[in-house]
Amino acid sequence: MTAPFSLAPLPWEENALEPVISARTIGFHYHKHHATYVKTLNELVVKTKLADMKLEEIIRATAGAKDDSEKNIFNNAAQVWNHDFYWRSMNPTKTKLSGKLASAITRDFGGTAELIAALAEAGKTQFGSGWAWLVSKDGKLSVEKTGNAMTPMAKGTNCLLTVDVWEHAYYLDYQNERPKYLESLLGKIINWDYAAENLSREGEAVRAAAE
Ligand code: MN
Repeated sequence: MTAPFSLAPLPWEENALEPVISARTIGFHYHKHHATYVKTLNELVVKTKLADMKLEEIIRATAGAKDDSEKNIFNNAAQVWNHDFYWRSMNPTKTKLSGKLASAITRDFGGTAELIAALAEAGKTQFGSGWAWLVSKDGKLSVEKTGNAMTPMAKGTNCLLTVDVWEHAYYLDYQNERPKYLESLLGKIINWDYAAENLSREGEAVRAAAE
């Protein structure tokens, strides 16, 4: 899909993540923050050479740009992608961890509790706004953190899950207590099915990035 981009629907009802994340937080986060990234991106790419590119291509083409207008496009494009990915990383119905993903977690982290602790630590120690990620490279899993709009996919890294640690993601529900938000989200609403699906698509995602 190329510009104009549209705001993708949420994969669940706005109150479905309660009590971990309130409908009020989702309302602001989705209808104000995410929607504004989409709207701004469309305004910025119209009549540029990026107008015919897919979202992923725009992100990779502008990552690391020196020029301020390209940086601005990168920030908005990456935030559109990151938020779509974030909504799908959460599921109100407890999903089950099994198969290839479960064995990769045991192999690379020692267990689910250790993986969750590593993600919480990445989110907690990301200074200021940003994201915590579970990623895979050649099937091997690791945790990363990125600042502001930066996303591992910009460098062709395959993403499995993400957690938004911008204050707008948790402030209405947890105020300054980011660790509490992380603990609650990671303990209760992680979408393991989505992570497993993304792990199985690693080859496809990496090939698309290399094109
Ligand atoms: Mn956000």
